[in-house]
Amino acid sequence: MIRTLEHPLAHHVLTHLRDKTTKPALFRTLSYQISLLLALEATRDLAVVRKKVETPLEPFDGRVLAKPLAVVPILRAGLGMLQPFHDAFPDVSVGYVGLERDHTTAIARSYYCKLPPLEHTRVLVVDPMLATGGSAAQAISLVKENGGREIVFVCIVAAPEGVATVEKAHPDVPIIAGALDRALNDRKYILPGLGDFGDRLYGT
Ligand code: URA
Repeated sequence: MIRTLEHPLAHHVLTHLRDKTTKPALFRTLSYQISLLLALEATRDLAVVRKKVETPLEPFDGRVLAKPLAVVPILRAGLGMLQPFHDAFPDVSVGYVGLERDHTTAIARSYYCKLPPLEHTRVLVVDPMLATGGSAAQAISLVKENGGREIVFVCIVAAPEGVATVEKAHPDVPIIAGALDRALNDRKYILPGLGDFGDRLYGT
């Protein structure tokens, strides 16, 4: 299942992210903004418990988050989405998964995996560009091997090929995307896409 952002601000921010004349400083700001919208969308169904507090005027029967939250960026580009998750959810725990493509087999291999306890936790695996879906599917497998059960994959732009790969490998994992684009080109870049996210973020 994929759900895309339909908020007018999401369209505005994504359009400027896609614009090839957008420079790295603005690109970083826009990445923050779209990631914050995605963080809110990916957590809109989080469980809550009742909590009574006293306002300065009277008792109030409120609600607070019931379960811990973890965010797992896929290195390197996923780091560009991390800060707004931290800012919106100060108690979030953070894990890291580093994957690199083996050039002979074209299969993603994990070179780094550091995850917090994931049982009874909503785990948001984040990577800005869901292209072939190989890294996403493998990162989700690592999260499951480490106890993650309630997982959401979060990206800024998704390609139909990547969505199909993740849905086939992990039908239980919903995908929250800023946009679902048309296709991949023969170099596995998303079309229309926004180019190489890591290069544009870090100016490399
Ligand atoms: N990674 C990117 O940075 N861009 C794409 O279009 C595909 C994968």
